[in-house]
Amino acid sequence: MATLTPMMQQYRETKSRHPNEILFFRLGDFYEMFFEDAKLASRELEITLTGRDAGMAERIPMCGIPYHAAETYITKLINKGYKVAICEQIGDPKAKGLVKRDVVKIITPGTVLSESVLTDSKNNYIALLYEKEEQIALAGADISTGECFYGLYQGPDRKQMLFDELYRLMMPEIIIVGAFSYQAELKEFVDLRLTSCTFTILDQATKAVEDLIVQHFDSHNRPIIDIAKAAVATLLAYLHDTVKTDLTHLNKLSYLDASENLVVDTYTLRNLEITRNLRDGGKKDTLLAVLDFTQTAMGSRLLKKWLEYPLLNIVKINDRLDAVTELLEGFAMRNTLTERLRDIYDFERLLTRIEVGTANARDLISLKVSLASLPGIKNELETAKSKLLNACYNSIELYDEVVDLLTRAIVDEPGISLRDGGLIKDGYNAELDEYRLISRDSKKLLQDMEEREKETTGIKSLKIGYNKVFGYYIEVRHSGTDSVPAHFIRKQTLANAERYITPELKEFETKILGAQEKIVNIEYQLFTVVREQIKAKLSSIQQTAHRIAIVDTLVSLAEAASQYNYTRPNLTNNGEIVIKDGRHPLVERILTRDLFVPNDTNLNHHDSEIIVITGPNMAGKSTYMRQTALLTLMAQMGSFLPAREAYISPVDRIFTRIGASDDLVSGQSTFMVEMNEVAQILKYATKNSLVILDEIGRGTSTFDGMSIARAVIEHMRDKIGAKTLFATHYHELTDLEESDNRIKNYCVAVKERGSQVVFLRRIVAGSADKSYGIHVAKLAGLPKNVTEGRKRFLKNWNRSIQQSSYRSNHCKMMLS
Ligand code: ADP
Repeated sequence: MATLTPMMQQYRETKSRHPNEILFFRLGDFYEMFFEDAKLASRELEITLTGRDAGMAERIPMCGIPYHAAETYITKLINKGYKVAICEQIGDPKAKGLVKRDVVKIITPGTVLSESVLTDSKNNYIALLYEKEEQIALAGADISTGECFYGLYQGPDRKQMLFDELYRLMMPEIIIVGAFSYQAELKEFVDLRLTSCTFTILDQATKAVEDLIVQHFDSHNRPIIDIAKAAVATLLAYLHDTVKTDLTHLNKLSYLDASENLVVDTYTLRNLEITRNLRDGGKKDTLLAVLDFTQTAMGSRLLKKWLEYPLLNIVKINDRLDAVTELLEGFAMRNTLTERLRDIYDFERLLTRIEVGTANARDLISLKVSLASLPGIKNELETAKSKLLNACYNSIELYDEVVDLLTRAIVDEPGISLRDGGLIKDGYNAELDEYRLISRDSKKLLQDMEEREKETTGIKSLKIGYNKVFGYYIEVRHSGTDSVPAHFIRKQTLANAERYITPELKEFETKILGAQEKIVNIEYQLFTVVREQIKAKLSSIQQTAHRIAIVDTLVSLAEAASQYNYTRPNLTNNGEIVIKDGRHPLVERILTRDLFVPNDTNLNHHDSEIIVITGPNMAGKSTYMRQTALLTLMAQMGSFLPAREAYISPVDRIFTRIGASDDLVSGQSTFMVEMNEVAQILKYATKNSLVILDEIGRGTSTFDGMSIARAVIEHMRDKIGAKTLFATHYHELTDLEESDNRIKNYCVAVKERGSQVVFLRRIVAGSADKSYGIHVAKLAGLPKNVTEGRKRFLKNWNRSIQQSSYRSNHCKMMLS
């Protein structure tokens, strides 16, 4: 260290405090990186790696980026999962000796506020995990919107519940405090299920627990237990250390109460393509995409949340449905609200930028436009009768004085920079107006001076110009230089002209430049004062923003119901799921109009608890089962349904096991994965759950597969009593119908025309007597000799199948 130059010593010292971040070290107009950081950044950012003499024997690796282009580079690094520490010159740069430098903020994937990284329709969460005595607390926040929450996971399936939660949050950054029992599994889960995630390990929880909790949240919050409190406080401490601003907008703490929501596990969320498609994890072709008619970013984030956290409480579900009904029937109201909502910017995120002081004048104009459309929305809601819309009417506040302030103060189309002026309107501030007058007048006087000098000297080519090096000057072409008077002082010679100054010109210069500098400074000051004034209203505007999101989401659900001809479900509490003419919300959108064949579902605990569906491949079994799960979920999130009529009792969990080959990446065999998941379902399903099982036992020999399938149904029947849809190509399982009145056989209707088979896509009572697999194979173009061979094989095979009952008893022992 002793051999390093003083500046490099300063660098080393700063870097030692930030070993896990890439240190952007400000040197003049550049951010420089050194040593390993430089090697890494030059590779990731594709910039040239150079070297620098720093007092050591060898030149040290170095690379740099101009400070004004930093944002683009930081975005790149954040998107790749790195953290960046910004070290600025904080002392007077002209002072003697080494300039003082310090890290002013750290940017991480979970705390980034830059618009170029954030996605409108997605929250950007950060999560912290803290485990103690078989309990895990999760603290989470989205600092870009001001949300803060916690969850608690205990009991034997705590790991699964936590992982399901993390899958919904899809956060790019996780902090782990102390030892965490599931660290290796978490890493595996993250690799498999989340796009990318940065881990931070903290040794221990913060000591300032009470201080931070009291500082951020009002005291009316529900009492929270110590471990959760510590988790939330540690997250807040981390955010303070990172963002280095006060973050008072994180002022409400909510509790993720699993007992209030329908639990949809990761597998089901994925497989039903609720908010992310299976293909690339995107939004296209998901239930979210079908239902999303929201106008605002806040609304689209809330709709996603409603889909990921459907409700259990019938009263709350009906509150949403009442509002959707009102908006569906009130065409004019829906239309006007849609129009007004269109003018609303993402003001949750605008407010955050105001809070942390990065909002520019354009942000304030966006805020003005948003706030100005609130009266129109409130007005429209005045006559609303439904409880939820009425509550929104009551709690949407108007901010006329803020709109008025912004209208008076900020120009309508300001630039991006706050340091170039052009922000504040004329007439807002007397001092500013005065300097503007001087500046404008001086320019006029300058023009007059040019005319006068031209006249007195008689030089036609004379003109007054400006450049950064000399300031204002008089330029005369060489042809005219003979007539130049004595008081012109020569400053510069060009190829075809000479440049001069005069004392009078320099006097003007001081005045003009002085005025301009003053103007820029005053404008900046006035701007920050306006921004501070708005900050005082922040928490109230935040509340209003949340109401706007609710209105937008409800309007969106009404719009979907209207466009796609959905009907309102009736919520019941007798444990039934009865759907008449139900349609699959995604498949019906893909098929050309009217091609989708609607189907009924009838599940109850008396005579139709377990439905065994047989039928050929490609007949529509899994579409039918997914449809039942999707419609149940839609009803519980407050949406209308693609059906003629529906009676739905809320279910506590939806379990699905559909298809295979999905988890092969994790290194387990398909069969193993399937059995694990089936075992999980049998362990956690309750009488109030909905269970969808498609072709269980496919991954093993037919004989074993059939035995396992039988054992699962029997376990459901005898031990759990959950509403179950079970699709199978083992016809032998249809004899289970005789064992219990609650088991019913269904099949997909098929019409045979000679040797041709036509799938009618209709689910009817009874069992399919043939598998038609051979026909499907033919349809798919398999050669004839292959399909003939299979027919022969089947004849022999049927004989051995009789023994499957015996094997199922064996399997039952394995699964329980
Ligand atoms: P299975 O599970 O029986 O193999 P799927 O449910 O995957 O069959 O259905 C196969 C295809 O049939 C689907 O991709 C869909 O296009 C079509 N389909 C399914 N159900 C219907 C329906 N009710 N109406 C119209 N087409 C349907």
